[in-house]
Amino acid sequence: MAKQCIGCKREISTGILICPFCGANQSFFQYYLKSFVLFLLIVISAIIAGYYLVNQSVAQAKLELEQSHERQLNQAEEKIQRLETALLDSQKQLRAAQLEIQTSLENQTANADQAGALEAELNQKLKNAQADAKRQQDRAGWLSRENAKLKTEIETLKQQLAGLQNLPTPVPAQPDPIPVNEQVSENIDSSVRNE
Ligand SMILES: [Zn+2]
Repeated sequence: MAKQCIGCKREISTGILICPFCGANQSFFQYYLKSFVLFLLIVISAIIAGYYLVNQSVAQAKLELEQSHERQLNQAEEKIQRLETALLDSQKQLRAAQLEIQTSLENQTANADQAGALEAELNQKLKNAQADAKRQQDRAGWLSRENAKLKTEIETLKQQLAGLQNLPTPVPAQPDPIPVNEQVSENIDSSVRNE
């Protein structure tokens, strides 16, 4: 009795386990086992490869993400440093400006003090000058009054002298008019000195 080979489909005897033409195992299970194992191997390989690829992709993505994060972190740190530097500069400028304002204020105060002192000094000088002027004025007034008084006295003395000269009988011990004048001028001098 004959049957068809499971592999090459040629006629072979029923009792034969392996085809004499193509060498295929005539057991159905045995024949397909190879293919199944092969298929299984391929599937497993595919799964492993897929898993590996996915893993690699994930690792790559993770790495890229980490690198990106690191870059962003570095950029942020640089930005922070720049801002800190700018802040320091601003603080320096602020301090310089404050110092300038303080110095300016101090100078102004010093100038004001100087101006105040000068004003006080000038005021004092003005007062002194006014006092001097008043003294001079008083003295001038006094001198003028004294002068007028002396003029009156001189007039009186002159009249007295004229009266004496007009006497009908000359007096032997008649005083010379010149000494009288000298006395008057002496009086004037002593009055001026006494002042
Ligand atoms: Zn065969």
